[in-house]
Amino acid sequence: MRLGRRPNEKERFVGGIEFPRRTLPVYRRESTYPDPDDLRALYASGELGLMGEVTAQYAGLAPTAQDLAPYFALAAEMGVPVSFHTGFGPQMSAQRGDADFRMRLGNPLLLEDVLVRHPDLHLYIAHGGYPYLDDTVALMMQYSQVYVDISAIDWLLTRDEFHRYLRRLVDARLGARIPFGTDQMIWPDTVARAIEAVESAAFLSEHQKHAIFFRNAAEFFDLDADHLLGGPGLAGPGGTVVRATRTPLVLRPREPGARGSVTVGVESCMKSWCAMSRTLLRMFCAHRKSSTALPLTQIG
Ligand SMILES: [Zn+2]
Repeated sequence: MRLGRRPNEKERFVGGIEFPRRTLPVYRRESTYPDPDDLRALYASGELGLMGEVTAQYAGLAPTAQDLAPYFALAAEMGVPVSFHTGFGPQMSAQRGDADFRMRLGNPLLLEDVLVRHPDLHLYIAHGGYPYLDDTVALMMQYSQVYVDISAIDWLLTRDEFHRYLRRLVDARLGARIPFGTDQMIWPDTVARAIEAVESAAFLSEHQKHAIFFRNAAEFFDLDADHLLGGPGLAGPGGTVVRATRTPLVLRPREPGARGSVTVGVESCMKSWCAMSRTLLRMFCAHRKSSTALPLTQIG
């Protein structure tokens, strides 16, 4: 059953689709290659606004694999931003449901030929490219269309390790291309931890924190920042909560067909609109991959 979009949903959510490996209820994993023509229609209608997270590493695929070529071509042609998984995965992934997972395929520099082929492709690599720091810096220095989010590493790593990694990216003058992220799918309480990991970075100015929390993602997704922030004075560095919202989210069901929900208290941890929107984006992706029959409006 498709419920359609709520009128205001487009402002706060960007729909994505995870492939070629996705998680089903009760954590079963499966391969899925959406029909490019179906995707074309979903992007044209606005139901989807993001390609990804593209989980090629979990499928044992390098970014240059032929199986992925039609999707990159479609994204480049339609101007659809792409989220590409990089770095690492859960420990022993090859023994735990993703037999083809290989650590070496998480190196962001493997994307280089894709970027040469599609110079206008708008792409962000997920999880900071961790631990491939030098190669992440190299890729981003050379290809200005590449952004890197800090999802998962901002709460999975020790605070010191995360700060070292983030500092190196910022010192390499990449701070304007680092959007905040969390990758929270099941544990909304760690949203606050992820935000605190950025807030506690003494080497970041308020301006740089604001860029990570809001401006960089707004630019990547081409959002109307002034409209979303709700007026003047709220968009500046050091701004406080801009919109106190409680949003019930339907997360990945524990069993097929089951539904659950959690209420995230945005007031408690919000410094900017986009900090939360990025989280919701990932939550939405997690939910969508739980069942193709569950549409956008399962959130809210
Ligand atoms: Zn990922």
